[in-house]
Amino acid sequence: MTVSVVLFTSDLRLHDHPPLRSALASADEVVPLFVVDDAIGDAGFGAPNRCAFLADCLRDLDSGLRERGGRLVIRRGDVAAEVRRIVSETGAGDVHMAAGVSGYARRREERLHGALADVGCRLRVHEAVITVVPPGAVTPSGAGRDHFSVFTPYFRRWSEAQPRAPFDAPRTVRVPAGPGSVDPPSRAGIPGVSPGLPEGGEIQGRRSLAAWHRHGLGRYEERHDDLAGDATSRLSPHLHFGTLSPTELVHRARAAGGPGAEAFVRQLCWREFHHQVLAARPSAARSDYRSRHDRWRTEESAAEDIAAWQEGRTGYPLVDAAMRQLLHEGWMHNRGRLLASSFLVKTLYVDWRVGARHFLDLLVDGDIANNQLNWQWMAGTGTDSRPNRVLNPVLQAKRYDPDGAYVRRWVPELAGIDGGAVHEPWRLRAEERARYAYPEPVVGLAEGLARFREARGLD
Ligand code: FAD
Repeated sequence: MTVSVVLFTSDLRLHDHPPLRSALASADEVVPLFVVDDAIGDAGFGAPNRCAFLADCLRDLDSGLRERGGRLVIRRGDVAAEVRRIVSETGAGDVHMAAGVSGYARRREERLHGALADVGCRLRVHEAVITVVPPGAVTPSGAGRDHFSVFTPYFRRWSEAQPRAPFDAPRTVRVPAGPGSVDPPSRAGIPGVSPGLPEGGEIQGRRSLAAWHRHGLGRYEERHDDLAGDATSRLSPHLHFGTLSPTELVHRARAAGGPGAEAFVRQLCWREFHHQVLAARPSAARSDYRSRHDRWRTEESAAEDIAAWQEGRTGYPLVDAAMRQLLHEGWMHNRGRLLASSFLVKTLYVDWRVGARHFLDLLVDGDIANNQLNWQWMAGTGTDSRPNRVLNPVLQAKRYDPDGAYVRRWVPELAGIDGGAVHEPWRLRAEERARYAYPEPVVGLAEGLARFREARGLD
């Protein structure tokens, strides 16, 4: 009787899962394994919203496997030690897993290679599970150029790649009787979870995907920036935890066709772009990727402004609405993320790492590649070709929330102000202004801009 282990990481699904498919094809029995790795919590990445979503995903994966005659084995501890223990308990000849991208994922692979070699077991790392095109598979011409640092040429080359066809979910999974498991975690026991956090798991992901194709995809191009319309896919947590396969998403969108599908595939490519940057430069999770800036205000000197930003009381209604959506849902619309990050790094001139950390504390889709590199993009330290652009919260509001409905939804103390006037409460007559318990702007926009230009030596 041959046994293989499948180590699940950021790929918590049964559909389109190359490591599982490969293990089932080559072994009589398979141990589907997830290790709740102590190192993730110790490094500060165990944020309550993501832990809660993960708990849903593990329960769902376990029930999906049970429907197919198997079960999920969950262990807690050091990932290399636990995998090795399972291999010793079952006599498994190989361990299959998806290739990771972050520095942490790369170190985990190296440690597993070492730990398994000692017991004569092979680690088989599968590409194109977490991304459609493996990082490093598409590179610019020129000696020594290991990744693209500009999106448009990457998108062109990425679009030419032919992804494999997605695989169906297996019908049966035979798991050996022996290996013990801890119970799947439950979100009910996790404190500090955002009240509007979405539900995790592959079943929910596939439902959301089907609904997206029915109602959203076709109009994505024209509606994706409409803050109040909330017309993006909201599939990002499922992509982060791998409850949906990016390869399947690209195939289905291309099959649907049309401008909405094209625009959606382009956004999926942004995810791939950031993943290949991080894979080539793992230090970009912490250090400036391209241009170095070190004149940020210190966390101590900007403490009050940072707190106002985090709590959604900067006095700029659209910024505050976006930050409150983050607190309530553990998710924020992309247009809100752009504006809120610009406000922190440009208008308040606070280091991008401070904002990235706060987002990672709350975002259910909080992802090292997408979060850190989008923050760097906005800070002008990353891949943006216009590093000194500053988004004006009032102009952005007039453009992307013209009627003010998004602000009224998230900033209820301003709900009594009709139409676009809600974006500039400071313009109201004093006696009317006094009716709303809403703060004055933490800084004037002209003052913020002057500080930014001076720090960047732009005058
Ligand atoms: P849709 O508009 O439906 O797009 C579909 C998918 O494309 C998304 O689910 C996502 O996987 C991908 N995508 C879209 N835009 C981007 C982008 N700019 N960069 C990378 N991938 C993209 N996204 C994360 O997944 N995790 C993060 O931690 C994260 N942090 C961000 C921080 C900042 C400061 C900014 C400006 C953006 C960040 N994004 C992050 C990117 C983007 O805002 C989200 O992916 C998007 O809002 C998720 O909503 P959606 O699934 O409805 O997106």
